[in-house]
Amino acid sequence: MGASVPDHFEHMWRTIQPLGRSDRSGGYFRQPFASAERELDAWFVEQASARGLRMEPDAFGNRIAWWDAGSGPGLVTGSHLDSVLDGGAYDGPLGVVSALAAVDVLRERGVRPSRPIGVSVFVEEEGSRFGLACLGSRLATGAVAWEMARGLRDRDGVRLDEALAELGLAAGDPHPWLGSQHIGCFIELHVEQGRDLVDRGAAIGVASRIWPHGRYRFEISGSPNHAGTTRMEDRHDPMLTYAMTALSASKQARVTGQRATFGRVETQPNSTNSVPSAVTAWMDARGETDEALADLVATITRQAQERAGRDGTKLTVTAESVSGAVDFAPGLAHRIAADHESAAWPIVPTQAGHDAGILSAQGIPSAMLFVRNPTGVSHSPAEHAETADCLAGVHALAETLERLAS
Ligand SMILES: [Zn+2]
Repeated sequence: MGASVPDHFEHMWRTIQPLGRSDRSGGYFRQPFASAERELDAWFVEQASARGLRMEPDAFGNRIAWWDAGSGPGLVTGSHLDSVLDGGAYDGPLGVVSALAAVDVLRERGVRPSRPIGVSVFVEEEGSRFGLACLGSRLATGAVAWEMARGLRDRDGVRLDEALAELGLAAGDPHPWLGSQHIGCFIELHVEQGRDLVDRGAAIGVASRIWPHGRYRFEISGSPNHAGTTRMEDRHDPMLTYAMTALSASKQARVTGQRATFGRVETQPNSTNSVPSAVTAWMDARGETDEALADLVATITRQAQERAGRDGTKLTVTAESVSGAVDFAPGLAHRIAADHESAAWPIVPTQAGHDAGILSAQGIPSAMLFVRNPTGVSHSPAEHAETADCLAGVHALAETLERLAS
């Protein structure tokens, strides 16, 4: 590879940019195990092979491309290539492209790592197809059992085991694959999904912790009826229960300094001139501590039940997934943040879930590097990072790997 590292980075970035991009919104639709994401997977395999890395795939679609240097448990860095529906370009792919570019930096510098270095891609990080975020890393570490996960269905009713079988994966009963004897340390570089680094005037940051978060399904049933002839006082309208719940959730989250979002809603029969029979809505909630999250969800649920009582509707709330708080190994975060060439990188918390959080919770020492996002906007076509900051990220990652592998 003759070109310079910035050229490599930009070439890789330009190559993947059109994959899964919507002409209409400019956002990305990279659903796990579907065409655009599979093209990215093939691109990753090609990049790894061009660098002479040894590919280690698993039965769930995850991959680690190994630079077989030194000995002992590997030092792994990477992220994900899937996106939320109509997501941004940087969330996930920035960490994968930066990991490959960081390997290039180390080789250009003639670094001889004392331990193997792996570049990883975990599938279905966003949970946008099968509803469970970080599904690939949960399966790989055994945080979720295959027996439970195989029956998960996407919106078209396709089961996870069917989607994997179509790719020739997960035949039989695959076993969790990753542990601390395999991965000694995991570093995930990610675009920041907030404005902490902008406020601090820093291009690079290190994660301290991940807020606990969960997804909750609100199923509300009422009485279907005619939109014209039914008097307002005679209705049992689940849409009203939902609407008031969304408002009270937002208010409750604001006054307590937490987060609550209804981003997905389905209504039956979805007819303009009918009072709906049922509304199903999904709430994403995040709290500073496990207790704060539990309190927030309990309060929102209680207020929703009270409203359902007034509307004459029936409500059930189901927690689809809840992830506890993750505190990254403080020694590792401080070492990464302080012990390097440029000024200290700030250590900041995040409200977003990541594969690094799953690996950390499963006993694999993990850390995250964030690259400044000028607007903080993420999970949106407007998500952005300046090229200079992305390149600073590549060098920060290379420096971190060099130190941890020497
Ligand atoms: Zn991400």
